[in-house]
Amino acid sequence: MRPIDKGEAPNVTFHCYQDAEPYLEERIGAYCSYCEFPIQHVPEVEHKEAKARGGSQLAWSNLLLSCKYCNARKHDVVWVGDKNRYIWPDEEDTFHCFSYSDDIPQLNEDYLEARESVVRKRAEGLYQMVKLGNIPTSPKDKDRRYARRSYARRCAEQCRTAWEKIRNSVEQEEYLNLMLELAKATGFFSVWMEVFQGDGVVRQGLIGAFKGTRREYCEE
Ligand SMILES: [Zn+2]
Repeated sequence: MRPIDKGEAPNVTFHCYQDAEPYLEERIGAYCSYCEFPIQHVPEVEHKEAKARGGSQLAWSNLLLSCKYCNARKHDVVWVGDKNRYIWPDEEDTFHCFSYSDDIPQLNEDYLEARESVVRKRAEGLYQMVKLGNIPTSPKDKDRRYARRSYARRCAEQCRTAWEKIRNSVEQEEYLNLMLELAKATGFFSVWMEVFQGDGVVRQGLIGAFKGTRREYCEE
């Protein structure tokens, strides 16, 4: 899960939480803060502690962007004061907590094993809450996260194959820029980072291309 830096609260007064949307989008891009889905419509402003459960409506620290699939699943599960039962992408190293080596994200057990058990519990809490590993099996389930994530992986894998051939040629830089544009369009930062495992040039490019990424957590 892409770790993000929203920066300080903007120096404006929000009259309703939707007022925060352009500022969040400017800082972290139009991606779901949880599943990394590239959002085409106006992203939903998401409250970490649900507003229906006493969470602050307007506090910058309580706001993220979400796709409708994650937002609907998370709904109003988190009560005010319960935030610490979950890990949050704008607060900690969520990059290493999850693995994207398969089409379904998983908890990164190798990493979590070396951490206190509470970290695993909190990572699992968020994973379960937004149903990050969901695969829609009935026509009623309109969840497109799995399909779009798989598409992003296929694009990334094709890029990697072509990149191996083209790197060290004069077209290298041009091709890299095109790949980064494609990555931004398909979204799913963590999938691209996984596919380009071991390739520092592309990974650095991806970290820079997805604005608001917490660089220090993603560098090897
Ligand atoms: Zn999402």
